[in-house]
Amino acid sequence: MERIVVKPSPIHGCGVFAATRIEAGEVIVDGCREVLSNEEVKALPEEERAFLAVMDGQNVLFHPPARFVNHSCNPNARGSDSRDVAIRVIEAGEEITVDYVAEQVPGLKLKCNCKAPTCRGLLIVPSHE
Ligand SMILES: [Zn+2]
Repeated sequence: MERIVVKPSPIHGCGVFAATRIEAGEVIVDGCREVLSNEEVKALPEEERAFLAVMDGQNVLFHPPARFVNHSCNPNARGSDSRDVAIRVIEAGEEITVDYVAEQVPGLKLKCNCKAPTCRGLLIVPSHE
């Protein structure tokens, strides 16, 4: 059985949802990201740059389904340069979310819609240029 499903999200665009209960510490999305050189980043089409993060000084491009994981100020998963891991139990049907600010998405300017009580509202990460 597929553990996740991609479908329209109340937070933004498409989101990744748990298709089954996921335990804390389980890997949700393994891989689906690629390390790019600065030259490769410059050659990226504008619409692909939205799926870029800088992690440990590396440019990481997120591919589906990893790129559809939305931000929440009260996330249930943690993303790294290789995988998304649950940080608590996620029930079937819940949307998988991570903290984009912690992931250092460069040039991030996002009006957050996560509706968490701890929501930070407008999220800003400076771009490198
Ligand atoms: Zn928020």
